This record gives sequence, structure tokens and C-alpha cells, in this order.
Amino acid sequence: MDHHLCDCTPRLKKRLCYCGELPILKTSWTEINPGRRFWGCRLYGKVGSCDFFDWADPAPHERYKSVINGLLRKKNEVDMEKVRMGRNARIYKIVLWLLVLFVELRSVL
Ligand SMILES: [Zn+2]
Repeated sequence: MDHHLCDCTPRLKKRLCYCGELPILKTSWTEINPGRRFWGCRLYGKVGSCDFFDWADPAPHERYKSVINGLLRKKNEVDMEKVRMGRNARIYKIVLWLLVLFVELRSVL
């Protein structure tokens, strides 16, 4: 791959976080910065983090933000629908089991 034509890989910062460790590349999924990558302390968001933070990507364009946020909302809807369908499938299995039991009992009596 010719790296002269692509500047898409953020350069690894030689900087260390305030703990003295190499920062880790992470991705923001907030509505303001969806999909925007940043360098953070390896404990970023956890207890003991030094809160080191530095953007790796430029600020996203409004159109990009709106598309990504729309896709994330759709993904959440699909995930919730999958949970609902899983719950319904369990209910149907129980109803089916009760029906089979009912039919079996009727044939015995
Ligand atoms: Zn740190």
C-alpha cells in the first residue's frame, strides 16, 4: 500500500498520558462526535484514569454526524426488536407446550 496517497491512519503520538503510559486509540459514540477517534489513557472512563484525551480525527461534518446518528438509532431499534422477538418466541414456546400438554391430557382422560 502506498502511504503517500493515504493520510487516513492517525499517526501514533509519541506523547504519554499523565500516568506515563502510551495512550490508546478509542472511538467516541456520542451524538456530537459519532465515530470520531481519540487518544486516551488506557484506563479512560475507568477508575484510576488520568483523563488524558486528544482527538485523533478532525471534527466530523454535520452530514456525516446526521447519517451516523441515524444509523445508530436504527441499530438500537433493531436490537430492541430482536429482544422483543426473543421474548415473544419464549412466550410462544410456553403456549405451545401448554397446548401440547392440554391435548395430551384430553387424550388420557
Ligand atoms: Zn493515564
